Parts: sequence; structure tokens; C-alpha cells
Amino acid sequence: MKAMMIASISIILLITQTVMQVYATHYYTGNRWSSYSIDVCYDSYSLKNIVLDDKGDQYSKVAQQLDIARNDWNRLQSIFTLNKKDTCDNWAYATYRGDEFIAQTMLCINWIGSCYYDSQNMPSGNIVKASITFNADDKWSTSRQCASPYNKVGPWALNYVARHEFGHWVAFRHTSENSVMYHSYNCNYRDSIKPHDSYSLTIIYG
Ligand SMILES: [Zn+2]
Repeated sequence: MKAMMIASISIILLITQTVMQVYATHYYTGNRWSSYSIDVCYDSYSLKNIVLDDKGDQYSKVAQQLDIARNDWNRLQSIFTLNKKDTCDNWAYATYRGDEFIAQTMLCINWIGSCYYDSQNMPSGNIVKASITFNADDKWSTSRQCASPYNKVGPWALNYVARHEFGHWVAFRHTSENSVMYHSYNCNYRDSIKPHDSYSLTIIYG
């Protein structure tokens, strides 16, 4: 009887350990904001250059897509929030990049001027500023449907890309697991924030 109890306790411990391993925050850079509430400003002047499949007022359509992505992060258990503001240090822009980048996040650590596009090589310290640049040379869509999971050519679903980029703002690196931080564009991973991401955010910000 005692042996059985020990065996079942061991099994429970093993299951707990396995779940913890599955949800390990291996893709956390170690950098974080000192605040739990981050301001986000949309640069209406440059973002209106994004060409969406959904015609109409381009900037308001773009802003809707960014809101969808931002609010998906805000709806999680964590107390971390991304708040839309008119003036702030943290911006979402579009530029005609002329390169293969769909979008890129820049994070500044500790003081303005020490900023990084590559989250692998950031020094330790608090994040003090962030920006996303969307490539206005690309074609974009307002879809929330996963029409082609292995899309390699676009148009890119803007809220999928924004959801991933805001994940970099939180200070996540890429991963090959079932996460919105999956390393390449695949709409099965970008369509929503996954349990792994929600868990990791709570570990970092509570
Ligand atoms: Zn990325």
C-alpha cells in the first residue's frame, strides 16, 4: 500500500515536471520592462502606406489589425498590458525597406541609443523603448483565416505579424515550439497567442 502511494506520488511529480518542461520559458531573453503597462503609439503618417487587400480607409484598417494583436496580449492572465496612446516613446511604423524583412522589432536597453534588432545578442537590463517597423514594400491582408499555413510569399495577415512582433516587445526570442514566437511565418502559430506564451508571460510579469 505504501509502495503504491509512493509510486503514485512519483507519477504525479513526473507529470508536473513534464508540464513545466513543456512550458519552460526557454525563449525569454531575460530582459523585461520595469513597468507592467507599456504605451504603444501608431504612426498614422507611415502606417497608411501599408497596402491591405481590404480597401477603404487604409490607416483605420491597419490600426484595427494592430488593436486585434495588442488586445490578444492584453486579454491574457498576466497583468502586463500594451496601451494605445497618442504620444509616447514606443511606436509602430511602416517603411519601404526594400529587403526581405516582413517586419522587425527594435528594443532599447537601459538607455536610449543602446538598441537592438537581434534579441539573441542583447545585453542584460530593462527594456526602456520598443518599436515595430512593418515593410510597406510587402502586400498585407486583414485576414484572421488560415488559408495557407505555409505562406511564403504573402500577402501577410497583418494581425498575425503584429501579434508575433508584440511578443518580441515582451522580450521573447524565436522558438520552434507551438508558440506565436515560432521562428517563421506560419499562420497556424501566428493566429492566436498559445498556452505556452500565456504561461511564459505570467512567469515574467505575474
Ligand atoms: Zn520574430
